[in-house]
Amino acid sequence: MAKLLLSLLFIITITQNAKASEKAFAILLSYGFNANDLVNVVAKYPELKNIDVASESYQNAGEEFTAHLNLKLYSENTNEAYLISKKDSIVTVDKVDVELEREVRNIDGQIHNTLYETVLRETDSVKLANLMSEAFKEDFTTTKGIRVSTLCNFQVEQFFDNGRFVKYGNIVSASLVIGHAVSKKILQMDPTTFSWMLLPENFDSNDKPFYAPVKSSRVSSLFQLNRRHPITRRHQPHNGIDFVALSGTAVFPAQEGEVTAISRARAKGKFITVLHDNGYITTYDHLKKFQKGLKVGMRVALDDQIGEVGRTGFSTGAHLHFGVMKDGFYVNPIYLLKSYCFSQKEEFENLFEILDEGEE
Ligand SMILES: [Zn+2]
Repeated sequence: MAKLLLSLLFIITITQNAKASEKAFAILLSYGFNANDLVNVVAKYPELKNIDVASESYQNAGEEFTAHLNLKLYSENTNEAYLISKKDSIVTVDKVDVELEREVRNIDGQIHNTLYETVLRETDSVKLANLMSEAFKEDFTTTKGIRVSTLCNFQVEQFFDNGRFVKYGNIVSASLVIGHAVSKKILQMDPTTFSWMLLPENFDSNDKPFYAPVKSSRVSSLFQLNRRHPITRRHQPHNGIDFVALSGTAVFPAQEGEVTAISRARAKGKFITVLHDNGYITTYDHLKKFQKGLKVGMRVALDDQIGEVGRTGFSTGAHLHFGVMKDGFYVNPIYLLKSYCFSQKEEFENLFEILDEGEE
């Protein structure tokens, strides 16, 4: 009876998907393989010593699970599986290619504690929780206090062997939305590492459409979906990036376009918005002054000053708050913005050319 219970327990345990991929040895030991068996297994496939196993399935031909056991270990990183069987103390092992069925699963969730915990709860996968946390690390400078109800959505590949779940693949796309800010990542080839990564929707290292709007010494605050406003203390995503600059510093459009607003609001202070040919709208807040003669509907060029840095509206000091909108949502400007302004173009582009040549 005790033995029957034990094997029942085993069935229950092993039909669950492993949370994190496990090492083959640990799994084999848990099925009652002994040290001598492991030596035999590794003699044929040395990689089994270190391989990550996504999940396993087994068939138990005997009454007792150690008597005649067929075990199938699915590799985490390849489409291979190891068929390991033990019958009457004789262990055999084979490697086979498995043809897995792929499905993309859509997951909608709300963040409760951390993004990591939310993904772990939804998928039971440490790998996916890590992937998501990594992909959004620039949007969350802290993992503490992420607001309950932040919407998160992602699409993840799932692989099956004859209908049985084997493992998760890549996250194909993912987004977080708070208020009117959205941060979206899409699976893309990272040109620097040549690996597939979840990168911002508009990631393109060589072709950022916008110039920095001011000649600035530093950026004081980045785009952040989770932030308390420094003055109002209310939860408020930071919908743009802040450039620290002296009051009166010239502000230029990030790209040529049409002025769509020259106005004043309680929080933003004096602000300007510009619509660009690529469909993006850029915003320039807390201005001290608008450029004389600037009118809504006017076309501005890259070297047309539009205003001066100030501290109007809710602002702790002189800075330019720069925002970028697409389709009604604020997006993270950092991926769209060159690190220099238009007047520094030649100086910087020459510098990059020199650096590139130096690398070869
Ligand atoms: Zn700001």
